[in-house]
Amino acid sequence: MPHNYERVPDLGEGLRLHLNENTGGCSPRVLEALRAVTAQQVALYPAYDALVRQTADCLGVDAGSIQLTNGLDEGILAVAIASLRDRATDGHAPGSHPSPLEGIIVEPAFDMYAAYIDIAGARVVAVPPARDFEFPLAEVLGAITAATRILFLTNPNNPTGRVIPKAAIEAILRAAGTQAIVFLDEAYYEFAGETLVDEIDRHPNLVIGRTFAKAYGLAGLRAGCLIAQPQTLASICRVVPPYSLNLFAVAGLRAALGDPEYLRAYVAQVNESKRLLYDACAQLRLRCWPSAANFVLVEVGERAGPLVDALAGRRIFVRDRSGQPGCAGCVRITTGMVEHTRACIEAMKEFLCAGLS
Ligand SMILES: *Cc1c(COP(=O)(O)O)cnc(C)c1O
Repeated sequence: MPHNYERVPDLGEGLRLHLNENTGGCSPRVLEALRAVTAQQVALYPAYDALVRQTADCLGVDAGSIQLTNGLDEGILAVAIASLRDRATDGHAPGSHPSPLEGIIVEPAFDMYAAYIDIAGARVVAVPPARDFEFPLAEVLGAITAATRILFLTNPNNPTGRVIPKAAIEAILRAAGTQAIVFLDEAYYEFAGETLVDEIDRHPNLVIGRTFAKAYGLAGLRAGCLIAQPQTLASICRVVPPYSLNLFAVAGLRAALGDPEYLRAYVAQVNESKRLLYDACAQLRLRCWPSAANFVLVEVGERAGPLVDALAGRRIFVRDRSGQPGCAGCVRITTGMVEHTRACIEAMKEFLCAGLS
């Protein structure tokens, strides 16, 4: 069965708390930069050098250690293809039937990993969730075989918000050795503050993914990046088209990176929003997991579907994650601007407490 990703339907106007977007919008400086784009600039292929240098400076790495991508999704696709497709029949005698290479994901996992492992012609090896979404280190290490070429880790994880202990990531990097890439997806880094960027010099098999869609609020512009040693990046870059980011993404990202204060203020909103939602869950006797990201996974139980529908009826969109492994009855709620979180909590209370006195 193919591993297809779920294309989220266009829901129209409303309070979007279902895709972990920045609910406050991007920095006003981004809009200024977009408005300043000229007809002449639009007519030209975009130039990337200045943006690459600026991004590398922000990330604290050399310009040669990053590859900008059209959203992190494109980066994930490029890493999957580079690590799985090129060498898809390595090590097989001519005429023998090649057995597929393998990519490992840790459930519950971001949809795109399995979809792209599949696209690259490899086999998806899924490590099941552990109790309380603890990171299943022994099981991940046990899943590595001679056919493994890539492991996907997400820190903090989506949809749980849980953090992977650094020692666990390092153990996996050692076990993967020269044979497999460890893709560490740090899409929610700005909220969590934990990264292995400082470690790339030590690990030729480490590729880190970042996105400017979430904390920076540039989801509509599409901008992400990969960070790795230049030699590791070389084979991945071959997969990324030469003009992958359009002119507006370039202009918008430059402005966004130049406004760190806006980012800091948003992260503060997110932290306060998470606190409010934890409190509300405690009051409503709903289990939730402490999150290092900009969303919280809430266990609603049998009323998960009805709650999602009732909120949608009020134009508040949250994501039913019941279908994901280990997530039965769970709803993922983006925690962005405090006023938006308050509106969602209010609506949750009204629905869940209706009929109770
Ligand atoms: C949102 C998300 C991405 C994709 O980011 P884009 O830049 O919008 O493509 C990648 N990984 C994880 C874990 C995400 O949650």
